[in-house]
Amino acid sequence: MSEAPIPFNRPHTVGKELTYIADALRRGKISGNGVYTQRCQEFLEQRYGFAKALLTASGTDALEMAAILSGVGPGDEVIMPSYTYVSTANAFLLRGATVVFADVEAGYPNLDVEAAAALITPRTRVVVPVHYGGAACRMDALLQLAERHGVMVVEDAAQAINAFYIDGEGRHHPLGRLGALGAFSFHETKNVISGEGGMLAVNAPSLISRAEIIWEKGTNRAAFWRGEANRYEWMDVGSSFLPSEITAAFLWAQLEALAEIHRRRMALWQRYYEALAPLERKGWLRRPRIPSHARHNGHIFYVLTEDEATRSRLIAHLQRRGIMAVFHYLSLHKSPFYRERHDGRPLPNAERYSATLLRLPLFHDLTAAQQDRVVAAIAEFFGG
Ligand SMILES: *Cc1c(COP(=O)(O)O)cnc(C)c1O
Repeated sequence: MSEAPIPFNRPHTVGKELTYIADALRRGKISGNGVYTQRCQEFLEQRYGFAKALLTASGTDALEMAAILSGVGPGDEVIMPSYTYVSTANAFLLRGATVVFADVEAGYPNLDVEAAAALITPRTRVVVPVHYGGAACRMDALLQLAERHGVMVVEDAAQAINAFYIDGEGRHHPLGRLGALGAFSFHETKNVISGEGGMLAVNAPSLISRAEIIWEKGTNRAAFWRGEANRYEWMDVGSSFLPSEITAAFLWAQLEALAEIHRRRMALWQRYYEALAPLERKGWLRRPRIPSHARHNGHIFYVLTEDEATRSRLIAHLQRRGIMAVFHYLSLHKSPFYRERHDGRPLPNAERYSATLLRLPLFHDLTAAQQDRVVAAIAEFFGG
C-alpha cells in the first residue's frame, strides 16, 4: 500500500520533441502546413501507402472531415458500432445524417459485419468500422458489403496506427488505408501522441483535392502555396482542421520513434497476456481474443469480468492497491443523448462489453514490477 500509485496512462515523450519545437520556432512559421506537417504527412504516406495524409488537430477533426467528404446530409444513414467513442457518431450527426448503431461481435468488440448488413437500407451512405485496440475489423467482408450496396467505408482508425488487416492470402494491409478514408488520433492516450492531434488518410484519389480545401477553411490555400493556383480563394465549405507546426514538430519526434514505441507497447501487452493466462484458466476472467486476421498494435489491454458487479468490485480493489484501471464506452445507443433517437433494438454484445470490459494500465514507461503488481492484485481479488 505504501508503493507509488500506478496511473492508467502516462504520456511518453521520446526526447526530441522540444528540439523539433525549438527548430519550428527558429524557422519563423508556426501556423499549420509547414515543414514539420509536410514531413509527418510524407512519412505516413510512404510508410502506409495512403494516397494523401493530412494532419488534423484531433482524431475528432479527422472524423469530421471524413463526414463532410462523405457528402452525407439529412435523410442519409450511417452505420457504426454502438461500442465506440462519441466522436465517431458526432461527426456524422453534425452533418445532419442519421446514425444507425450496429452490434459488435461476441468474441471481440469490433463491428459485426452481418449485423451491419442487416441494417442496410436504400438510404445507407456510409459504414464506419472502428478498429478497437488496433485490431482490425473483418475488412474483406465489410468491403464486399459496402461495394455491393454502393456505400462508402470510413475507417475509425483512431487507435490503429501501425496495425494491419491480414487478408485471406496472408497479405498485410495497413489499417486506415482500406476504406475511402481513415481517421487517426494522436491524443495523449494513444500509442503515438502529440497532446491533441490526428490525421486523415485519404485513399480515394477523387477526394484528395476537396480534402485539402476542407482542411484549409474551404480555401485553395494548400494548392496556392504549391504554386498550382494563381489566386487564394474560397472554394467550398471547410474549417480550420490543421494543427500548428508546434504540434507537428512534437509529432515528428514521435513518428521517428514509431518502431520503438510499437515494440515496447507490444511487449507490455504480451506480458499481461501471458501473466493473466492462469487466471483465465481458473475461469476468473477472460483475456482479449485478437482475431486471426488482425495484427494489432498493443493499444489496449483489457480483461472481461463475469458481470458488472464483479467489475465494480475489482476496480475498487485495484484502487485500494493504488492501481488505476478504467472501463469505457457506455454503449452510445443507451446514452442520455441518443437513447430516445435509437430505434430500440437491443445490442447485447455492445452492452456486455460496456458492463464487463476493464482496461489495465498500459503505457510506454510502465515497468515489469508495476505490471506484476497489477497482475498480483487481480489474482488476490479473485483468489483471496
Ligand atoms: C481517441 C478516439 C477518437 C477521438 O480522437 P481524439 O484525437 O481524441 O479526438 C475517436 N474514435 C476512437 C475510436 C478513439 O479511440
